[in-house]
Amino acid sequence: MATAFVTHPDCLKHEMGAYHPERPERLSAIEDQLIASGIGQYLVRHDAPLASDEQLARVHPIEYVRAIRDAAPEEGTVHLDPDTAMNPHSLRAALRAAGAAVLATDLVMRGEADSAFCSVRPPGHHACRARPMGFCIFNNVAVAARHARHAHGVERTAIIDFDVHHGNGTEDIFQGDPHVLMASTFQHPFYPYSGTEDPAPNMANVPLPAGSDGRALRAAVDRIWMPALEDLEPQMIFISAGFDAHVEDDMAMLRFTESDYAWVTQRVKEIADKYAEGRIVSVLEGGYALSALGRSVVAHLKVLGTL
Ligand SMILES: [Zn+2]
Repeated sequence: MATAFVTHPDCLKHEMGAYHPERPERLSAIEDQLIASGIGQYLVRHDAPLASDEQLARVHPIEYVRAIRDAAPEEGTVHLDPDTAMNPHSLRAALRAAGAAVLATDLVMRGEADSAFCSVRPPGHHACRARPMGFCIFNNVAVAARHARHAHGVERTAIIDFDVHHGNGTEDIFQGDPHVLMASTFQHPFYPYSGTEDPAPNMANVPLPAGSDGRALRAAVDRIWMPALEDLEPQMIFISAGFDAHVEDDMAMLRFTESDYAWVTQRVKEIADKYAEGRIVSVLEGGYALSALGRSVVAHLKVLGTL
């Protein structure tokens, strides 16, 4: 058994404009570092399927799913919000990104993989129930978490989110849901300016001021996340794996490094091993400094797959 690596060439065809930071080269940078590090050979690769309307509709109203299908252009680019656009390939990329997380969940739940990483775009954690936002169209991790419950009977799920931005879409979807705990760190105050005002009891949100480094992450995890995770005893853990809090990433102003991503992955793995038979599905979110992104994913995967 090994760690599954789920991706699809369609995810490289989604483009939102020449200078957009959420660009296809992000996935290529990850592939480059898999080769450079030598760990690529230990991952079991899978092509992401397209998510079905039934899978998406566990999170998003079907009217929203249809509106996204209708918005997809046959040529050119259409904007869904100021930061989020679709080209003729974006619909399939978005369906593959959510489908990757669903397949990863199936592989891990069926015991066909120990853990899984989805190297996909568009990302998902800003996508709300009925609103695309911040480079995100469908909430990939949310679709997978609901799939775990409805297709595999997983009653207690933890969603870990260490992206530099608050996962407001995931919070919108799961706040007050007794089946899900969301544990997150994010720069605050910063886009999308949410996550701090009266969060629901199932939200372990930890805002970090600009300039915080890995020590702040580690303190947040040990003091806030770990007790909440111990309390939940999750049967499955999802990770919204954004790497834009890296010190080299100028999208934001946190100062994490690869060793911090390895450390937090290890802590999450301890909980997964204790309560969830090791089941972790990690899905790419942000990360815009290409070299730092690739190196951070490798650090994350080395711990995830014990490579
Ligand atoms: Zn982000």
